Amino acid sequence: MNHSVLEMTIAAPLDPPRRAGGDFAARVERVVAIAAAAADAVDREARFPTEAFAALRAERLMGVMLPPDLGGEGASLADIVDISYRLGQACASAAMIYAMHQSCVACVLRHGQRAPWQRALLRRLGDEQLLFASSTTEGSAGGNVRSSAAPVEHDDGRIRLHRAASVVSYGAEADVIVTTARRAADAAPSDQVLVVFQSDDYALSQTHSWDTLGMRGTCSTGFDLRATGVPEQIMPEPYERIHPQSMVPVSHLAWSGVWAGIAADAVERARAFVRRAARENAGAMPPGAAHLAKATAALHTLRGMIATALRTYEQAAGDDAALMARDFQTMITLTKVQASETAVAIVLEAVRTCGLSGYRNDSPFSVGRHLRDVLSSPIMISNDRILANLATTTLLTAVPTSLSA
Ligand SMILES: Cc1cc2nc3c(=O)[nH]c(=O)nc-3n(C[C@H](O)[C@H](O)[C@H](O)COP(=O)(O)OP(=O)(O)OC[C@H]3O[C@@H](n4cnc5c(N)ncnc54)[C@H](O)[C@@H]3O)c2cc1C
Repeated sequence: MNHSVLEMTIAAPLDPPRRAGGDFAARVERVVAIAAAAADAVDREARFPTEAFAALRAERLMGVMLPPDLGGEGASLADIVDISYRLGQACASAAMIYAMHQSCVACVLRHGQRAPWQRALLRRLGDEQLLFASSTTEGSAGGNVRSSAAPVEHDDGRIRLHRAASVVSYGAEADVIVTTARRAADAAPSDQVLVVFQSDDYALSQTHSWDTLGMRGTCSTGFDLRATGVPEQIMPEPYERIHPQSMVPVSHLAWSGVWAGIAADAVERARAFVRRAARENAGAMPPGAAHLAKATAALHTLRGMIATALRTYEQAAGDDAALMARDFQTMITLTKVQASETAVAIVLEAVRTCGLSGYRNDSPFSVGRHLRDVLSSPIMISNDRILANLATTTLLTAVPTSLSA
């Protein structure tokens, strides 16, 4: 390959995401309608989006990425990102929970499906439509995912983990927790494993509440996590490989789908506002209409960026080395930063389009919930942390000399 993955990213044509077959789209739309109807209550009450997840389970969309022999449909990541986008337009919390669940599933699927313990769990996911949660944030150290404090302890053929799991979204609702941990008590903080615990394996006692500005339905409470299990529950590959090959690309793309969905619904509301204002003023555009044009342009850019990153991921997905390549990692990491910043900017344009009608909570054009939800995006793994980590790498990444290379 004589050109970088970043160059390919810019050059790749923007195909629409590949859709799973059959009645897939209709099943997704049924869930979206249910999630939308409950979204305001989920936000107001800061409660788990029960209705959306009952529907996702009923439509068998929790294990849709699994191959058919494990009870799934072999759906692609493009399908997952598209579901995240559609759900993001309806209920950001439901969408983000779905995206986080699928990021965990993708890690177990890619790196564990040949191991008997993980394979049996994946079959359970296919049969029972389980909900997977993740624990990477630990103690008060914030979002350095590539560092763990609590070690896995081995004792008489069993493993034990005691972790200050300070943010675990929907931890109380999950059937499975996928957690990072230090490999052993004498291992370095960056020498991590990923361990999979089923709800029977662990006890959670709440340490932090979740009373936040937005994403209130993710119920990302803090817990003291005490888990036991068998050594086979440790994923066979080190986290050092799982992180760049699966956790980062899948979570960044699925999260970006959610944020784009929030932004898209904000633009939809802004469009409705401008249409109504023009109708009521003999076709004259309201002063905020220029902001709608800017929001529309930025949404176009955001969707294109996600689609291109997705396509680049799919081209690299079969090749571990391509996924680990510096240029791919830089591209997929910066996609998260850029998608989150752009989504925030779009929702702000929608607020300015609608004026007071958008700012109010009691208006059909309200984008208050959208704004509160989307503001979680730059801090969900802090963009500052990411950019600081990438500062040196970006120096090593050549600027493309052609748009079509
Ligand atoms: C909706 C939502 C759901 C979440 N769900 C989960 C979950 O299910 N499981 C889980 O484990 N975690 C979850 N998290 C936590 C998330 O993964 C991050 O750990 C968390 O958002 C980071 O929090 P922080 O800003 O306190 O930490 P930090 O990343 O430490 O950032 C704190 C501050 O320090 C600055 N900073 C940090 N490092 C640097 C640096 N190197 N250079 C410059 N500035 C820096 C940042 O800008 C920021 O202002 C969730 C977060 C959100 C918002």
